[in-house]
Amino acid sequence: MAADLTRRSAADLAQALRSGEVSSVEVTQAHLDRIAAVDGAVHAFLHVSTEDALATARDVDARRAAGEELPALAGVPVAVKDVVVTKGMPTTAGSRILSGWVPPYDATLVERLRAAGMPILGKTNMDEFAMGSSTEHSAYGDTHNPWDLDRIPGGSGGGSAAAVAAFEAPLAIGTDTGGSIRQPGAVTGTVGVKPTYGGVSRYGLIALASSLDQAGPVTRTVLDSALLHEVIGGHDPRDSTSLAEPLPDVVGAARLGLTGDLTGVRVGVVRELDGEGYQAGVRDRFEESLDLLRGAGAEVVEVSCPHFDYALAAYYLILPSEASSNLAKFDGMRFGLRVEPTDGPATAERVMGATRGAGFGDEVKRRIILGTYALSAGYYDAYYGSAQKVRTLIQRDFAAAFEQVDVLVSPTAPTTAFKLGEKLDDPLAMYLNDVATIPANLAGVPGMSVPNGLVDGLPVGFQILAPARADDRLYRVGAALETLLEQRWGGPLLAQAPELPTAAPEGSQP
Ligand code: GLN
Repeated sequence: MAADLTRRSAADLAQALRSGEVSSVEVTQAHLDRIAAVDGAVHAFLHVSTEDALATARDVDARRAAGEELPALAGVPVAVKDVVVTKGMPTTAGSRILSGWVPPYDATLVERLRAAGMPILGKTNMDEFAMGSSTEHSAYGDTHNPWDLDRIPGGSGGGSAAAVAAFEAPLAIGTDTGGSIRQPGAVTGTVGVKPTYGGVSRYGLIALASSLDQAGPVTRTVLDSALLHEVIGGHDPRDSTSLAEPLPDVVGAARLGLTGDLTGVRVGVVRELDGEGYQAGVRDRFEESLDLLRGAGAEVVEVSCPHFDYALAAYYLILPSEASSNLAKFDGMRFGLRVEPTDGPATAERVMGATRGAGFGDEVKRRIILGTYALSAGYYDAYYGSAQKVRTLIQRDFAAAFEQVDVLVSPTAPTTAFKLGEKLDDPLAMYLNDVATIPANLAGVPGMSVPNGLVDGLPVGFQILAPARADDRLYRVGAALETLLEQRWGGPLLAQAPELPTAAPEGSQP
């Protein structure tokens, strides 16, 4: 029974809670038990908030018993990436420099999860300050891919994706600056959505690159993503970049997609994202899914976005530039770690140097140096300025493409999950994981990764992109593809994942 609860979708659990079949305490405890059993092997969580989660669950159960009308996902637990601040709950962004910091407030999206009655299971592992594609840059150890524990779960949000793929949480929150929701989704066989820029409040997200960052859902089904998106989305006066208009009807669009009918939908295959560098099997699965979309009535055409070839280069100038500025606040005075200098009296500059030297990892230092250089007088126009011009050209490519088609599609990531350690010493190889996901962040458009089958026993993803503010299109096409693929597989892809080793129950003898 408890095991069954962790296997069910959030939509199913919400229905079971509403009908009184189960209580939120039972559902929450089942997930806490699952975390206790398998997280030793997966290491998706940096912090498990048992008491906080059960308190919310008890409260929801009491209110439901009293006949109160509750929000759709009330009682369904959720995990939160550790870059999102949580009041009274440690928040590290995967960095040693924030060890010991307990935020005094909740991010807007966390307030919304709480207001929706959703128990927060804990905080998930990530690459330090969300820089990376494998979660290996976390200061707190690796997260392991539930499909093969020797492999990466993607990054930077590998913890959220692995938690959902390992049935430790039915839902999770991720953030996506260049692909950190979608690429982990692809390599763990989960659904990940990066909403339109400004569609989910960034208030209380520890900023990586403010013009690119966006929080969004990490789930096992497209409908679950829509339900979670509805909870966290919508205008927030505390975020000046938050969109004023209401979120489109993403839940309605997902339900429409579940019929498997895409008659009249125009789908554009991005020529520049379907070429070299992709593992052969990744392209095979992609082509097969295009056939399914055609069969569902969609019109599939090829479109060209010529400047996408420069997206990765532009991103790796814009992101470090913004990051170097955003990370200047970690100075040893205000948050977390403080290291006393050993090379002389404790001047402000020496304390900062000692704290940042010890508190930041190699990848973070690399990007701060790169960004500071790109922004410096004499180089600004050549690097940062040029990158911003490329960004405009990419936005124009999207605008032109969306005059011809309703959505754009590509494989989400060029390969399946690689082995832990395989790309750790090669930053450029690591950066190439995001070649297909980055254009959406540069243009602010929404994107989704849907599980797209297996290559050599490992999951790959199908990416869908839509115009800004048209997130509903992702859900219609994503849910249709999910329906058609599950008919082919005879059930959800994750049903094919191997059993995870579980820790011996407490008190058992060796
Ligand atoms: N992997 C990309 C990077 O390292 C994306 C990160 C993200 O989306 N947070 O920057």
